[in-house]
Amino acid sequence: MSYVDEVLRRVSDKNYSEPEFIQAVTEVLESLRPVIEKHEDKYRKEALLERLTEPDRLVKFKVPWVDDNGNIQVNTGYRVQFNNSIGPYKGGLRLHPSVNTGIIKFLGFEQVFKNSLTGLPIGGGKGGSDFDPKGKSDREVMAFCNSFMTELYKYIGADCDVPAGDIGTGAREIGYLYGMYKKLTGRYEGVLTGKGLSYGGSLARKEATGYGLVYITDELLKDHNDSLKGKEVVVSGAGNVAIYAIEKATQLGAKVLTCSDSTGWIYDPDGIDLELLKEVKEEKRERLTAYKAKKPNAEYYEGKGVWSVKCDVALPCATQNELDLDDAKMLVENHVLAVCEGANMPTTLEATEYLKENNVYFIPGKAANAGGVATSALEMSQNSERLSWTFEEVDSKLHGIMTNIYKNISDAAIRYDCEGDYVVGANIAGFEKVCDAMLSQGLY
Ligand code: NDP
Repeated sequence: MSYVDEVLRRVSDKNYSEPEFIQAVTEVLESLRPVIEKHEDKYRKEALLERLTEPDRLVKFKVPWVDDNGNIQVNTGYRVQFNNSIGPYKGGLRLHPSVNTGIIKFLGFEQVFKNSLTGLPIGGGKGGSDFDPKGKSDREVMAFCNSFMTELYKYIGADCDVPAGDIGTGAREIGYLYGMYKKLTGRYEGVLTGKGLSYGGSLARKEATGYGLVYITDELLKDHNDSLKGKEVVVSGAGNVAIYAIEKATQLGAKVLTCSDSTGWIYDPDGIDLELLKEVKEEKRERLTAYKAKKPNAEYYEGKGVWSVKCDVALPCATQNELDLDDAKMLVENHVLAVCEGANMPTTLEATEYLKENNVYFIPGKAANAGGVATSALEMSQNSERLSWTFEEVDSKLHGIMTNIYKNISDAAIRYDCEGDYVVGANIAGFEKVCDAMLSQGLY
């Protein structure tokens, strides 16, 4: 049996109750086959893949807090520190009822390669809780965040592990978490990113993931003698990544036709009204029905459905496994040119294969949404030098990083005779640096 198959079997047997983690490891190791096979004996001897697929550490803890009715609630908190061979652990905190060990491990594993691809010195981690901030008062969110941090602070630090936002963790949550960290440790340091501008945050961090996604999409199209200008774009999600992807795509001359949330979706033939969307989602935290109420020309549908809309470019920006084989078939039937992932693993393995077989350009999340973590690393740099850069400085560094990521994943695919396969390219380019660092540092 090949080394890759051996490790895949071991990972499936050991983690049988964690389908998302198995899915992520399978996707990565399958595409690393050509690289692994070239050095099979050496990597097997070093147990490289066993070490790569086992987190350095996983902490799971109780998070008790009191709700507005005086009742005690108990949630579960997680932090996985997956791999720190190229820098301190770095990755977001997800607050969503679906969070469990397998989801956190899949996200932490993906983060290792993503962070490597940015070219910056950051290792991979991830965390979160099954707490749902939706519908909670500010006081309840603060009570949860305070309790969460009273445990998490023992494991993190500016040079050791630097968490950030993710689904359900925005500026408000990061603020409460930071306040409690400071109180517990007495240290004012860059231990979290995505901070507010008044206390160490970076300009352009809020926009970074969405903007970065659009920069790399435009780079991809330019490499194929095309561009985003004049294109029709379909976006899923209506959160941080989706909103700023819509903003940048619109600025570059595309028309964005859709957005969605966990209850329904909007089709706006005039192009999504960004100011209205920000008001509904960022300011008032309302459902998308509020968008429809203020924009009668738009159509609102319950459930999922954005992938049935004819478009040139699709940008899934909501959550994992939101674009399945049937969705991929609709996109191909409608002659989509490119699918670039703003969310983490939004496309199922079958859908990814189908899109690739049908010559749709496909950039996986670990490359396409790396602009967020890259800008978080720029926030860390600014915190270390006690300086703040201008929006333009950060945005131009972000643009440069995304252009480089595109070049690196494209070149890696060409080196292994898979030109245009950006999944293989991203996994190989991300893996090479981590592999070199792990082997150089010996067994630990
Ligand atoms: P937000 O919480 O700001 O927004 C998430 C959006 O997706 C919301 O519109 C939400 O709807 C929708 N959504 C969440 N879960 C589901 C679900 N199960 N079914 C349907 N819709 C859902 O998160 P972000 O925009 O920050 O993150 C989106 C994705 O991008 C995630 O996969 C995240 O891991 C990834 N990502 C984020 C980065 C960042 O910098 N923020 C960086 C890199 C990746 P509703 O409003 O109803 O909750």
